[in-house]
Amino acid sequence: MLRPHTLKIMLTEKLIKTIAKTSGEYGTIEPDDKIMVAVSGGKDSYGLLFLLNQLKRRLPFSIDIIALHVAQGQPGVDPTPLIDWLKGSGIAFEIAEEDTYSVVQRNLKPGGTPCSICSRLRRGIIYTRAEKHGCNKVALGHHREDTIATFMMNLFYAGKLQAMPAKYTTDDGRFQVIRPMLEVAEADLIALQEQEQFPIVPCALCSGQEDHKRRYVNELLDAVEHTHPTLRNVMLGALKHVNPSHLLDATVKREK
Ligand code: SF4
Repeated sequence: MLRPHTLKIMLTEKLIKTIAKTSGEYGTIEPDDKIMVAVSGGKDSYGLLFLLNQLKRRLPFSIDIIALHVAQGQPGVDPTPLIDWLKGSGIAFEIAEEDTYSVVQRNLKPGGTPCSICSRLRRGIIYTRAEKHGCNKVALGHHREDTIATFMMNLFYAGKLQAMPAKYTTDDGRFQVIRPMLEVAEADLIALQEQEQFPIVPCALCSGQEDHKRRYVNELLDAVEHTHPTLRNVMLGALKHVNPSHLLDATVKREK
């Protein structure tokens, strides 16, 4: 039987290998990058920061990482455990005190979900701070389940075939936004959270509630996975093997 220490190394190694492979394919991490990682206090952003920092030590070139936590002024939310963790990690970090909570409260329509307003505000703050620190990239903590759910939501509700890119340039050209963990399974991030005991700081606005369309597609995928356990991996593979000429987009060039 494998000892807990060995299992711990195995999980970390597996995840570092996955993000290194994604980087090799899509150029998410490149020489001399200065990457801002926004750490919300959830398992995904902790996992991202932890893994990038581990990978950084093994790269044959240098990169810089700076963590940013936006303290959003949510009543009853204390970011101290996160700040203590950041201090202990040895990673450079900044805490941005910005009362987005009041802005969201003022602008939230009855029955609306706070995440879309909140994430727009957060993005603006993150980009401003990234510019201040001279970062060329901003890293987001989306994982395999996020990209597949986004693909399904676009298919079901928006009528388009679109998932999430691993790397893109912002409209104003200031940064490249990267998603180093797009091929990491969420279950592995949950296991990493249990292993490393990241001190979670929950969101008081939405209590982790997914928007109902996202919840629906995730429940649907979970149900299919009961009989098709590799479903999400197969779907991820499908996103990497696109045959545009066999779809119906008339703007796609076709052989005569
Ligand atoms: S989870 Fe909370 S902090 Fe994150 S976007 Fe939604 S409301 Fe904002």
